[in-house]
Amino acid sequence: MKRKAGKASVYFVDMRANMESGVIDRLKKAMKKAGLLKIAGEGDLVAVKMHFGEKGSTAYIRTPYVGAVVEELKASGCRPFLTDTNTLYVGSRSDSVRHVRTAIENGFAYASVGAPVIIADGLKGGNHEVVHIKGKHFTEVRIASDIARADTMVVLTHFKGHEFTGFGGAIKNLGMGCGSRAGKLAMHSDVRPEVSRDSCIGCAKCIGWCPAGAIRLKRKKAYIDPDMCIGCAECIVVCPESAIKIQWGWSTSQLQEKMAEYAVGAAKTKTRKTAFINFVMDVSPQCDCYPFSDAPIVPNVGILLSLDPVAIDKASVDLINKQPGIKGSALNARRKAKVDKLRNLYPDVDWNIQIEHARSLGLGTTEYSLVKA
Ligand code: SF4
Ligand code: SF4
Repeated sequence: MKRKAGKASVYFVDMRANMESGVIDRLKKAMKKAGLLKIAGEGDLVAVKMHFGEKGSTAYIRTPYVGAVVEELKASGCRPFLTDTNTLYVGSRSDSVRHVRTAIENGFAYASVGAPVIIADGLKGGNHEVVHIKGKHFTEVRIASDIARADTMVVLTHFKGHEFTGFGGAIKNLGMGCGSRAGKLAMHSDVRPEVSRDSCIGCAKCIGWCPAGAIRLKRKKAYIDPDMCIGCAECIVVCPESAIKIQWGWSTSQLQEKMAEYAVGAAKTKTRKTAFINFVMDVSPQCDCYPFSDAPIVPNVGILLSLDPVAIDKASVDLINKQPGIKGSALNARRKAKVDKLRNLYPDVDWNIQIEHARSLGLGTTEYSLVKA
């Protein structure tokens, strides 16, 4: 996995367009320039790793971009399929039947994107391959079978903020997104929220949402049984009183490091046959796992392409931080972190941990050249 020293190339398609040159055409050209088509051989089964968006979310990658990527892969003789893994929490993507239905309802039907949807970890998220790595937390990781078995992978990521990891980018899509249910559980094992009895109003919304049945009312206030909690963190967002808190700092650092180790494992299943496209647009504060999408925090930046997941995420953060913050969005004008938009959103989450850990494990480099495509 160790890569040679030196800068990674990150290709950049901005959002400007006219009659002669549209963003989709430039995305297709950039795929060639960035070498994304060279990693796949004739007849390769190519996993196009996606996040189809929870039902009700609206910020996920728009289907014409996905269709364009599929078209280019097919034109170069590959057999692409769109894929993701089932979620840990109960929602519209927690088993393959619900997941495929949600993907189609969100626009990812064959007729729109030109490729079938295959959920990579099976009907209930139990299908995985064990991959051996040398990490700080793991010596083996559980990668969804149909991702591990695909010949090539192109990771399409909607880049956005994330309440647990600061941002959700290529490393998260590769790590958390390629882990089977057992893998996701292992990554979340340090996440244990607690309820503030002072803030809780006993409305029980969290109880109905919790996938593990770990919450009950105790003297009219919510109580989380730490032995039953699986650490999915969904209750934090569901609570209308912000009464559920996580041990920020330590637990989010562990999560980020574990996620980076899963990314190393997923990449190891296809050495030099994985490419990344980050869509830095509709940059919402939270991930697309919720049944809503909050207003973007910065104007649309564009599309980044690279063979290096660390470099592409670092470049995405840097470009976001060069943008003006959008007034009226979730950015907090009173917070000190005005330049670092992600730190402004989540002051207790150091997003750089995932980047540094992935870099230290040889997944990529933070040194990059931005090439206008
Ligand atoms: S208590 Fe919260 S974090 Fe734990 S399983 Fe339930 S919803 Fe997930
Ligand atoms: S959702 Fe929040 S306020 Fe309602 S019971 Fe749960 S912790 Fe308490």
